[in-house]
Amino acid sequence: MDIQQNIPLAPYTTVKIGGPADFFIHTKNSKEFIEAIKYGQEKKLPITILGNGSNILISDSGVRGLVIKNNSTEIEILPDNKVKVASGVQLSQLINFTLDNNLLGLEEFAYIPSTIGGAIIGDIHGDNKSLFSQFIDSVEKIDNFIVSAVPKLNPGDSTQAKEKVKNIIQKKSSIQPMNSLGSIFKNLPNQDPSGMIIDQKLNLKDFSIGDAQISPTHANFIINNGSASASDYLKLIRLIQSQAKEKLNLDLELEIKLLGQF
Ligand SMILES: Cc1cc2nc3c(=O)[nH]c(=O)nc-3n(C[C@H](O)[C@H](O)[C@H](O)COP(=O)(O)OP(=O)(O)OC[C@H]3O[C@@H](n4cnc5c(N)ncnc54)[C@H](O)[C@@H]3O)c2cc1C
Repeated sequence: MDIQQNIPLAPYTTVKIGGPADFFIHTKNSKEFIEAIKYGQEKKLPITILGNGSNILISDSGVRGLVIKNNSTEIEILPDNKVKVASGVQLSQLINFTLDNNLLGLEEFAYIPSTIGGAIIGDIHGDNKSLFSQFIDSVEKIDNFIVSAVPKLNPGDSTQAKEKVKNIIQKKSSIQPMNSLGSIFKNLPNQDPSGMIIDQKLNLKDFSIGDAQISPTHANFIINNGSASASDYLKLIRLIQSQAKEKLNLDLELEIKLLGQF
């Protein structure tokens, strides 16, 4: 096992923000992933799993303990139209693989830059608002760490499903920037979507602090224009929250996770 020290985590996130991990192991398959978890447990290190880092703001001072970057890639066809997928597999890769095998169901999760582990932990919502958990048959875990999963799929002709995936990618790629963490705030019940509130009621679209900017194409996304720090990014989040409270008496709640010390 290659155990590295003091490794900057920014390159391992979609938004390219985040300080170093004390210890870092990059795992390429489930066997290495399990070994890395066991190593961290034996050494009594706090363990953080990193999928694509597309839903976490990592602090500028980084993460203490062991960070495992999970790049396991196995997908295995099982009997009865089932598939077992390692937690580090890209969701897009699983969608393509299942459709190529005429197994349908996951299309609405197209474009989300997630690993399977991240999708299960976050119970992500798809384009039709379904939750990922609705499509999961079983999960293999070590303690709280997801190793692999078997999704629920239906056999059928994938021609239309592939078209649906293409349309979702086309629609979302024009408004949802990848140099971000996805939606920053949850939508509040009985209110306009948070992006609309930030754009039309708070007039904050485009507003920036340092290189952290509220996206010109989707106001619930905050992008990194180059060298944004986690501190700038969080200042912008707090500014939106305080204006929503002061001007509209709304409590915008984070959809992303904060990792490390802020
Ligand atoms: C452009 C864009 C569009 C997005 N669209 C959507 C969307 O439509 N719907 C939606 O719900 N989200 C969306 N997101 C948010 C994000 O992609 C999802 O939350 C995604 O599931 C995060 O997965 P990840 O692999 O990047 O996990 P990470 O961000 O790396 O990790 C997220 C959390 O899961 C934990 N984790 C990851 N893997 C494991 C594992 N194997 N075992 C235990 N814990 C683990 C991490 O420790 C962390 O706490 C979007 C993000 C972007 C940038």
